[in-house]
Amino acid sequence: MSRWAIRQAAYLITMDEARRELLDADVIIDAGAVAAVGKGIAGDLPGIDAAGCVVTPGLVNTHHHLYQSLTRAVPGGQDALLFGWLQTLYPIWARFTPEHMFTSAQVGLAELALSGCTLSSDHLYLYPQGCRLEDTIHAAAEVGLRFQPTRGAMSIGVSQGGLPPDALVEHEADILDDCIRVIDAFHDPDPGSMCRVGVAPCSPFSVSRELMRDAAQLARDKGVMMHTHLAENEEDIAYSQEVFGCRPGEYAESLGWVGPDVWHAHCVKLDAAEIALFARTGTGVAHCPCSNCRLGSGIAPVRALRDAGVPVGLGVDGSASNDAGNLVAEARQAMLLQRVANGADAMSAREALEIATRGGADVLGRSECGRIAPGMRADIAIWDVSGIEAAGSWDPAALLLSGPTTVRDLIVEGREIVRDGQLQTLDLPALVARQNQMARNLREAT
Ligand SMILES: [Zn+2]
Repeated sequence: MSRWAIRQAAYLITMDEARRELLDADVIIDAGAVAAVGKGIAGDLPGIDAAGCVVTPGLVNTHHHLYQSLTRAVPGGQDALLFGWLQTLYPIWARFTPEHMFTSAQVGLAELALSGCTLSSDHLYLYPQGCRLEDTIHAAAEVGLRFQPTRGAMSIGVSQGGLPPDALVEHEADILDDCIRVIDAFHDPDPGSMCRVGVAPCSPFSVSRELMRDAAQLARDKGVMMHTHLAENEEDIAYSQEVFGCRPGEYAESLGWVGPDVWHAHCVKLDAAEIALFARTGTGVAHCPCSNCRLGSGIAPVRALRDAGVPVGLGVDGSASNDAGNLVAEARQAMLLQRVANGADAMSAREALEIATRGGADVLGRSECGRIAPGMRADIAIWDVSGIEAAGSWDPAALLLSGPTTVRDLIVEGREIVRDGQLQTLDLPALVARQNQMARNLREAT
């Protein structure tokens, strides 16, 4: 059905320019976009009933490593800090094949879809045994989510003083060639695009200064976005000071890694000058609260970033460091963590939901997503609040303060991906069985 309606949403949170919230409202969808929003406008259009539901824009995930869904709760990495955690997992990831990449990405994306996510980025920075970025692109196309994969990279292995094993790093010329290949083959710049490719060296401690600079130039020549990890924890800051002689923000700025076409993951340790730099340049931040908690990295200065005007979105981060991939639960964690740092009035449920929707869309350069308003893409989450999780709630803020943590329905580009809590695009039990078998095989070979 090209033109259809979501009818009588008990509570419609639009996240439009005026942040309107409507009672008993309809949303008319036409050709993948929102055509109209209002009361009693659906007429006799076909559609779905949303009585008893809170309807929100689809959530946006700005940082993930989908391949890591195959390495959740690995014993040696459960209690390690960032660098030790990576050294535990690198040898396992080195055995991955294209089939591991594809299946793991489907699991991660299905989990995101069920938790309300309609648009996700991904950061794939290792390519063992013939793995390619399109392993994840094909996975996303089958699940049906809007996807922004980034061609990540590592080029400094152990023998050159880096952290990853030599088997997981690539030659820098090959990395740049493959960035061009995947952008030319898969990047769609049109509004409503289901796939936009970005360029994303893994982190300042796993590639050279030259690659950071060349990657930025390539991304700007091609008109695509740039992404990396930055200022994740104290070790990260110490490494930057020791090796580059400056803070991560200065390093990023010196290599062209600031601007509205750049977003950095974590940014837990940005100082006041770096926050001002990000605000001045429109540089985005992917805030990953559960991962920051899990790895003991600290509390990102989200309150200060938002107050300064820095674009902030949410990321679940890879499932080796979260280990969950539930995006609405991540929004709750973001809200709670700012309260730990700054008090109970530091972040409302509505602000956390704003960061999770239009905030993330803006970080990814997709201002046509993340809000429900005429002309915006029809990416919409429908939450049934008639169940036990929200029983007794007085306000739709219950979505983050209590629950539920999975959607009833999910619409991407006007298409129903989840209906009545069931993924419509894939056989989920079969996918989970495949993933578990792969994880068992990897464990037995370790
Ligand atoms: Zn990450």
